[in-house]
Amino acid sequence: MNSPREWLDLLPWRLGALVLVAAGIGGLLGQFWPALALCFGVIAAWQFWQLSRLLQLLRTQRRVPPPRGIGLFAQLTEQLHRRQHEARTRKRRLTTMLRAFRQAAASLPDAIVALDADDHRIEWFNEAAQRLLDLRYPGDLGRRLTRLETVPRVAEWLRGDAQEPLLDLPSPFHPGHRLTLRLLEYTPQQKLLVVRDVSKLMHLEQVRRDFVANVSHELRTPLTVVHGYLDMLDPDDMPDLAPMLREMRTQSLRMTQIVEDLLTISRLEAQERLPTERIVMRALLDTLQREARALSHGQHEIELVDTAGVNLAGSNKELHSAFSNLVSNAVRYTPAGGRVRLLFERTAGGGVRFAVEDTGHGIPAQHIPRITERFYRVSTSRSRESGGTGLGLSIVKHVLNLHGARLAIESEVGRGSTFACEFGPERVVERGAALSQFDED
Ligand code: ADP
Repeated sequence: MNSPREWLDLLPWRLGALVLVAAGIGGLLGQFWPALALCFGVIAAWQFWQLSRLLQLLRTQRRVPPPRGIGLFAQLTEQLHRRQHEARTRKRRLTTMLRAFRQAAASLPDAIVALDADDHRIEWFNEAAQRLLDLRYPGDLGRRLTRLETVPRVAEWLRGDAQEPLLDLPSPFHPGHRLTLRLLEYTPQQKLLVVRDVSKLMHLEQVRRDFVANVSHELRTPLTVVHGYLDMLDPDDMPDLAPMLREMRTQSLRMTQIVEDLLTISRLEAQERLPTERIVMRALLDTLQREARALSHGQHEIELVDTAGVNLAGSNKELHSAFSNLVSNAVRYTPAGGRVRLLFERTAGGGVRFAVEDTGHGIPAQHIPRITERFYRVSTSRSRESGGTGLGLSIVKHVLNLHGARLAIESEVGRGSTFACEFGPERVVERGAALSQFDED
């Protein structure tokens, strides 16, 4: 709302005075009407000139000068001048912020590439992207990341919805370097590709793996010797030392088993894929049932249910070892009188699952996410007493990963647990059918 003073400012006092003067002079000269007409003509021309000047300033985006005088035009010019000033200040602030953001993104050690969401053309990239992805500025703007996209693993990752990061990719640009790729949808029209050089991290991981493998390997020989000598000593010959000898034997056996399990994990970690054979499931399931019975010594009810009626494609040896681990756990962690059920059945998606159900101690929910980590145990004493190494589930997870399968764990304390290995349809082979899509090595 305008104040009374502003209303006064708006009124064309000066124009009124001019008209009065013109009318007075015209009246004195006996030319009242022509003088009045001339006066209005001059006023109209003046207004027109002011208007066209303002329009010209706005058109050429020049600054509207600060207002001079009073009246309608002064008010209008003042408003325009103020708005222009505010807009310029806002623009300057935004530009400074944008520049700061760009500088921050440009100086990040990870490669950042802004891509068009539809056709994956490059819209912007930072300095690290020039280094890691061999991009050239500005030549590569508007192009696609063809060299990267044609790497089979990347193509497959992009064909899926690339929700999960692509880990440990050998760089197609710099031999010996390893990359991790992540694709983020940050607006509906744009995606952000973040590429990190993980070569050093992978090297450290390799050093750690080699160290564990070497230590395990080095321990094997002395352990075999100690174990051999212990075997030669008969506790009946030295009754005083008998309890000690038995304990030494148990512990040396345990250590040998830990070393063997560590070597198995190292071997699995070093492999990218396993030989794929036809696994005759009926025979394997029977063997597993026999193993369970032998381990249980008749203390549990062991049941086998095979409704899948198919075979599996995978590594016979590794899958046998993984399934055996689950069966052995079920027997070891189920008190006498309990039941262990081996199930082999089809899943809704056309795949198949091998599950081991028990009515044992169960696992508290907070332990389940970590249970496949090396040496992670819910109860250390229970694991040791039953001859566990704490590495069994870690081996299972590695074997399943190499088969593109997953381990699903359900458990309730006091009621029992179910460990299920879920395989995709690509691993299912009809009984009697040839193993066409896999090379039987
Ligand atoms: P371990 O050799 O100790 O059995 P695993 O890696 O096979 O090592 O299992 C890790 C831990 O998971 C075990 O120590 C045990 O606490 C728990 N666990 C595994 N299977 C079962 C099961 N069927 N019922 C209850 N607890 C289990």
